[in-house]
Amino acid sequence: MIHAISLPPGEFGGNAVTELFTNRLDPAGHPYYASLAGWRLSTHFFIRRSGVLLQFVSCLERAWHAGVSCWRGEQRCNDYSLGIELEGDDYSDYAVAQYVTLQRLLAALRLRYPLEAIVGHADIAPGRKTDPGPHFDWTAIAVRA
Ligand SMILES: [Zn+2]
Repeated sequence: MIHAISLPPGEFGGNAVTELFTNRLDPAGHPYYASLAGWRLSTHFFIRRSGVLLQFVSCLERAWHAGVSCWRGEQRCNDYSLGIELEGDDYSDYAVAQYVTLQRLLAALRLRYPLEAIVGHADIAPGRKTDPGPHFDWTAIAVRA
């Protein structure tokens, strides 16, 4: 499942996303952060604008990235999906380096796991989530024959 995240919203490059996913984000660090306090959020992977890949949770363990969600009639997508967060938002093009890393990551995951589908957060939580947003180029990660 592809996501977008930026903290503070719309700002790239800081450490806040890493702090969020390691439960170290200071709620007082920014007015927006208070709204995240108390949420247990995690993801398997995070791809920075530079293309650097970070992993926070083993693929063998559940991460808390999907929230209330449903895919093909199956609720609780966290139980059976891998979360990949891209540093981004609804208003910015993603960096080429992010697509390169994402392609490599997906190729590696396919060697190990049956990736039945690659979906966006918005696909499994419509009306609640918009990420990875209109600037995400789905053709960039299409499987090439
Ligand atoms: Zn998301």
